[in-house]
Amino acid sequence: MLDAEFFRRWMTATAAAVDREATRLTELDSPIGDADHGSNLRRGFTAVATVLEKEAPGTPGAVLVLAGRQLISTVGGASGPLYGTLLRRTGKELGDAPEVSAEQLAAALRAGVEAVTKLGGAVPGDKTMVDALDPAVAALATSFSAAARAAAAGAEATVPLIARKGRASYLGERSIGHQDPGATSSALLIAALAEAAGE
Ligand code: ADP
Ligand code: MG
Ligand code: MG
Repeated sequence: MLDAEFFRRWMTATAAAVDREATRLTELDSPIGDADHGSNLRRGFTAVATVLEKEAPGTPGAVLVLAGRQLISTVGGASGPLYGTLLRRTGKELGDAPEVSAEQLAAALRAGVEAVTKLGGAVPGDKTMVDALDPAVAALATSFSAAARAAAAGAEATVPLIARKGRASYLGERSIGHQDPGATSSALLIAALAEAAGE
């Protein structure tokens, strides 16, 4: 079973990964965006790690809801509301249980990804974070490490796609040949989940 401490480890591991990869995320956002994805997410997840330490929420749901709220209030740009919605919705699905199973987390994340799709209008193949998150959620039925591999593969598979949502979509066919920054950061988020699980 996964407790609040597990979810805090997940968020802390994400903050560390985003910090480590911030330059790369911003570089990916430069040919097909406005070169701020790494700095946006670094600001957001640093704030998440800080608030979780300060408030120490006692349930998995409360950890994710607080993290999501913090992202929405600290990240300017498309990715803040989208990641914020992902975590907040996932947290709401988990309710106030003190511990949840991996199956419950998989179902809650599925609802979180659906909320992202509803908010942003992107479906798989649109060259967005959804291209990493959607296969990750499907693979969560197998294991955390399978989900991490699926997310990484989904991010790499955005390279030949034409962007249909967000800033990159303004480039049309010129978005081809570049990996989507948001799909790349989503792969970091899911890799951090596997890391928190010790996989
Ligand atoms: P901004 O584009 O506002 O500067 P960021 O650079 O932080 O925001 O985030 C860009 C990422 O957000 C993109 O790479 C893409 O993965 C994701 N994104 C943008 N718009 C959408 C959308 N409508 N649905 C899903 N993801 C999106
Ligand atoms: Mg950007
Ligand atoms: Mg921006």
